[in-house]
Amino acid sequence: ILSFEGIRDKLEVASTTILDQMSKANLQTWLEQLWELCNSLKDVKLTRGEGNKVSKKWKPVLRPSGGPRLISIVGPVGKRLKDALVNLEEDLVQLTDKLQQEAQCIPNMTHPDAPIGGEDCSALRKLVGTPPEFGFAIKDHLQLGKELDLLDFDAAAEVSGSKFYYLKNEAVLLEMGLTNWAILEVMRKGFIPLTTPEIVRSSVVEKCGFQPRGTNTQVYSIEGSDQCLIGTAEIPVGGIHMDSILPDAVLPLKYVAYSHCFRTEAGAAGSATRGLYRVHQFSKVEMFILCRPEDSDSYHEELIQIEEDLFSSLGLHFKTLDMASEDLGAPAYRKFDIEAWMPGLGRYGEISSASNCRDYQSRRLGIRYRPSVEPSSNLKKGKANLGPTQFVHTLNATACAVPRMIVCLLENFQQEDGSIIIPEVLRPFMGGLECIRPR
Ligand code: AMP
Repeated sequence: ILSFEGIRDKLEVASTTILDQMSKANLQTWLEQLWELCNSLKDVKLTRGEGNKVSKKWKPVLRPSGGPRLISIVGPVGKRLKDALVNLEEDLVQLTDKLQQEAQCIPNMTHPDAPIGGEDCSALRKLVGTPPEFGFAIKDHLQLGKELDLLDFDAAAEVSGSKFYYLKNEAVLLEMGLTNWAILEVMRKGFIPLTTPEIVRSSVVEKCGFQPRGTNTQVYSIEGSDQCLIGTAEIPVGGIHMDSILPDAVLPLKYVAYSHCFRTEAGAAGSATRGLYRVHQFSKVEMFILCRPEDSDSYHEELIQIEEDLFSSLGLHFKTLDMASEDLGAPAYRKFDIEAWMPGLGRYGEISSASNCRDYQSRRLGIRYRPSVEPSSNLKKGKANLGPTQFVHTLNATACAVPRMIVCLLENFQQEDGSIIIPEVLRPFMGGLECIRPR
């Protein structure tokens, strides 16, 4: 019930958000289910109380001297209550599950300054650099990848299916170099590095605000189990502190996690689905912060700054966008995407996303903290200096989604002779390689 209070207390805001995000959530159904759950909880409590009363009253009599006659009178009453309780508790589990499913569809509130509307309504926040000028006919990353023997989609299609790929030769160094560089840069800002499980329970995926079930799901489920492949490290990192109360002093907790990501990409279509742009499996370095509620807006700014610094130091031309309500997805309260110029595509393409999810995930995951109380309000001597618990806020942001970075690097830094210049910051992570040349 606690995890649903956020919605219950802000029904008006929730219904506006559902409209703003064009969400399919149904608040009326959810409210009816919540009412049913409250009644069911009451019944369980009552029946449990009755059972306790019966056993308290009759236990002392039955044990020493009761004999078969008394047991035959009291026994059926106790059994009836026990059976009723088992049934009620089963109902309660089912109701909670139904409510949880419905609640998954209800989106987070939207930041009051976020633009309202579809993708086209997203607002430009920053523009960095200018598109590179080429004095020759440019190639896209597919052609460059083939000519330089860096990518193999044909073999991957045979082995795994479409939207899979092999990286070869210097492209492998690029993946490793980009990953190490991004992790080290973010670690320098005080983030704790992690590698994560890449198979998680479906319930954790749901609690993070993603939908592992349904026909259009982006999540790969493992048949015959309650587990899924992760679509992003945000899920296992969010799960680390599930069902816990964190001490005030450990906040903020900042993580930088490396993982593979698996996505069905159901419903994806268009030219941008070719090559490395939209694939089923990719590596990503992801930042994740758990913090006090009052700090989440400023940590959101910090995450965007880290992303912008990373992409600037690679020498990319990009823009930062304040994403409009219909593009936020269920868990995000506010989201800033970065889109980089991709010459082969002839347009900007999303390379990163930074979201403030406020308490949307922490309520579902049960992650709270106990703020310390100011010493002046610590009334009596000897009393612990502790206040009531509150839900933390969670934020996530991409530091480096490898395949789209490779698209950017190949297409932006191609030379007339077909070679690719490696950005200086990556060279120490690639054995000093300065340029990928045709063989
Ligand atoms: P998201 O977790 O959906 O915000 O995605 C984070 C970043 O991962 C995006 O900004 C893209 O750069 C990248 N990305 C998302 N989906 C794919 C995909 N199917 N293939 C390659 N990169 C992706």
